[in-house]
Amino acid sequence: MTSSADATVQRFFSYVVKGPELTSCWLWVGAIGDDGYGRFWVKEPGDKQRVYRAHRWALEHAQPVERPQQFHALHRCDNPLCVRATSGEDSHLYWGTKSQNMMDRSARGRSNFQLLGKPDPEARGKRVKAAQALRDYTKAHGYEQVKVDELMKNVLPDQGTLF
Ligand SMILES: [Zn+2]
Repeated sequence: MTSSADATVQRFFSYVVKGPELTSCWLWVGAIGDDGYGRFWVKEPGDKQRVYRAHRWALEHAQPVERPQQFHALHRCDNPLCVRATSGEDSHLYWGTKSQNMMDRSARGRSNFQLLGKPDPEARGKRVKAAQALRDYTKAHGYEQVKVDELMKNVLPDQGTLF
């Protein structure tokens, strides 16, 4: 690894708050996009900037694949802010195909976020707000599982509104 790659990794983890348990999430506390996922800017050769979804960058780094654009970076924990990607069994992120992603979503009752490919702007807005609230809370107070669970409730359909 070159030193500039090391610096990128260091910069990435300066935006991450790790939970204490083996099962805890690693929460992104940097910028959040309008889809509720973290954003990470990386300098590419030629002084260009490329913006990644933070969880995707983490998975590409922890589990490099040949053609990452063919795969989706999927969450086991359903937490859009989670960037816990490792090469081991404790990883909360894994590579999946598009159809796996859809099956995964409907299996977990998340399909109303994207009904047959039609994004639901209201659900999306709720998810973004919940992600921002969790980020701001975590930045100020550190990792708290209770707050992570609250976000989950907000992200999943038909649950009471929290925060
Ligand atoms: Zn997680």
